[in-house]
Amino acid sequence: MTSNNEIHLWKHTWQQVDTLDRDRTLILIPTGAMEQHGPHLPLDTDIFNATAISESVARNFIGSEHSVLLAPPLPWGTSPHHLGFPGTISLRNNTMQSILTDAISSLLPHGFYRFLIINGHGGNAGILTATISEISHDLGISVPALSYWQMIKQTLIEIGESPIGGMGHACEMETSLMLHLRPEIVRMDLAIKEMPNELTQWSCIDFRAGGPVGIPLDFRRDSKAGVMGDPTLANASKGERIFLDATAAITSFAKEFFALDKSALLKKS
Ligand SMILES: [Zn+2]
Repeated sequence: MTSNNEIHLWKHTWQQVDTLDRDRTLILIPTGAMEQHGPHLPLDTDIFNATAISESVARNFIGSEHSVLLAPPLPWGTSPHHLGFPGTISLRNNTMQSILTDAISSLLPHGFYRFLIINGHGGNAGILTATISEISHDLGISVPALSYWQMIKQTLIEIGESPIGGMGHACEMETSLMLHLRPEIVRMDLAIKEMPNELTQWSCIDFRAGGPVGIPLDFRRDSKAGVMGDPTLANASKGERIFLDATAAITSFAKEFFALDKSALLKKS
């Protein structure tokens, strides 16, 4: 297998990595979480989904003039609001920021400058925004970050059968994606509907239309079983649509990103 066909950075030798054309190489960094996802989904749901979508994007570039590679996915995210459930592992904000900054500052001197963070956990969004801002300031490089569901809002509106509040956590969306990608691990017999107890009408949590006010959650307090939404409406065909549309949208972004000149991404010195 040539280095152009192997999408996982960690399966290359350093000499294969060294042959990569820096201008035509994009390194994806999947981020997610290791946190409770109700009685029916595994703890690694978020990082699994982010990694699967990242791999699918990378595969779209095999055989093209560009190489898209995955850095090792970051299995943990910031999940303090899920720590009331056993098995959840949460990083502190500054730990997550340090890991991402260290990964990029390691690869930057090797000549790589196109990075993209592909996030699978809503609770990471705030720290990712802060992190890429600090990286831009401290390392002088613009690293975009996206959460896959934000790329496909229209898709989610079209396929969603639940009212707003039904796509929040371990919900219609995440369960559908898991039913498409890993049906054998989903316990649909245990899936329960838990619509959010909205603290106010302005702070609703939903992947389609979140409220404008962010109020920190505590899933032990705010849910019974760790669900926010309606996973009973999930199915594999919705999951396939989410997966394909997210892959297509992020691939489209990656193509535009490749068209940006190096000077547009690095700070003027
Ligand atoms: Zn999740």
